Amino acid sequence: MLKKVLIANRGEIALRILRACREMGIATVAVHSEADRDSLHVKLADESVCIGPSPSPQSYLNVPAIIAAAEVTGADGIHPGYGFLAENADFAEQVEESGFVFIGPRADTIRLMGDKVSAKHAMIAAGVPCVPGSEGALPDNDAEVLAIADQVGFPVIIKASGGGGGRGMRVVEKKEDLLRAVEMTKTEAGAAFGNPMVYMERYLQKPRHVEIQVLADEHGNAVYLGERDCSMQRRHQKVIEEAPAPGITEAERCQIGEACVAACQRIGYRGAGTFEFLYEDGEFFFIEMNTRVQVEHPVTELISGVDIVQEQLRVAAGEPLQYRQEDIVLEGHAFECRINAEDPYNFIPSPGQITTCHLPGGLGVRVDSHIYQGYRIPPNYDSLIGKVCVHGKTREQAMAKMRVALAELAVQGIKTNTPLHRDLFADPGFIEGGVSIHYLEHWLEARKAQL
Ligand code: ADP
Repeated sequence: MLKKVLIANRGEIALRILRACREMGIATVAVHSEADRDSLHVKLADESVCIGPSPSPQSYLNVPAIIAAAEVTGADGIHPGYGFLAENADFAEQVEESGFVFIGPRADTIRLMGDKVSAKHAMIAAGVPCVPGSEGALPDNDAEVLAIADQVGFPVIIKASGGGGGRGMRVVEKKEDLLRAVEMTKTEAGAAFGNPMVYMERYLQKPRHVEIQVLADEHGNAVYLGERDCSMQRRHQKVIEEAPAPGITEAERCQIGEACVAACQRIGYRGAGTFEFLYEDGEFFFIEMNTRVQVEHPVTELISGVDIVQEQLRVAAGEPLQYRQEDIVLEGHAFECRINAEDPYNFIPSPGQITTCHLPGGLGVRVDSHIYQGYRIPPNYDSLIGKVCVHGKTREQAMAKMRVALAELAVQGIKTNTPLHRDLFADPGFIEGGVSIHYLEHWLEARKAQL
């Protein structure tokens, strides 16, 4: 087993990983920027190393500094968390070449799934259903591009193979606009991602975002831990997640879960991963795979009882998975609200000092957060300051718990999006369940019109 793990991240996920390590008797090394000296995970870690100034390119993205920190502290593994270097294949490779265990998939798997065209190819070959579209990258020939679009059917979406974070995509409603849109997306993709390759998909009108959590080991074992519904999004950023997804039947779960497990075995996947799908009219369409732990992993942990981060650590150490598929029993319903330091109406980030901090508690309430009274949120990073998660026997009970938890949550000195969450948990459409990925944007527009 690993003896000492360096956590190459910050904020709530650094704390989450630290807790998993401590429970397993693994020593921890926190690395941090100058802005994060007072961070909770730095205070709680066995050792800490300052790896650079506040801007992330000089600290959390500074590969030589991170590897040097692992060397001087004698760590044997590096956990990348999410964001920053988590899906950077070159980083994973350098970590392993420097003699450390990378707590994630092999570098070539990250590379395969990081390029959307190669990822889609791999999924089609593995029998995972994908959004109908071009087979691979779009050709340079205009007539061929037009013919592909006719076959796919308008509206279509042009997507950059190297894209991510909701960038590098363009929806095209009609044929006249197609070639221009393809050119523009190619140019943008070349500039933003260093890869001008684009592909085409049918644009689904009212899909839901439903994703499957998997765990796989080096010995060919893989399991799925059910699905999460992450349709409540603003600007392609998830705001509320839940598990299971409302209305998904056991037969559907089993079918798509087994397809994901087979895909893991086919590509030799190792560690925790997520297959993201758009779900429309009873059909799943693969859009991408995330080769890391996700922000919303707690909702799956709450209904499955599996500690996903501890499984990542075990699998990275070469141990076989502790679970077979029949051991995975999903119980009850869970929600997660992402608490951001931002204005709940105009979403402008609100960094600064927290003067009052009261976090909710009680049976079935879990708060993953690095904030505390007196903590100063630096302006340099993502605005996520914590996640309020609840677990109830039914969706209704979980909702009731979340309302109480949100009512108790008191963070003062800065603005947070807590009032938005309170409003959403009183919204009839969301309460009913099964909303599409456009629901929250429409809801926000309607709210704006009323203000
Ligand atoms: P990224 O890696 O940038 O997050 P994704 O491929 O995951 O890109 O797509 C991001 C979002 O864009 C999806 O969650 C969905 O809202 C929208 N989207 C992507 N592809 C389609 C499609 N074929 N039809 C409709 N919406 C899509």
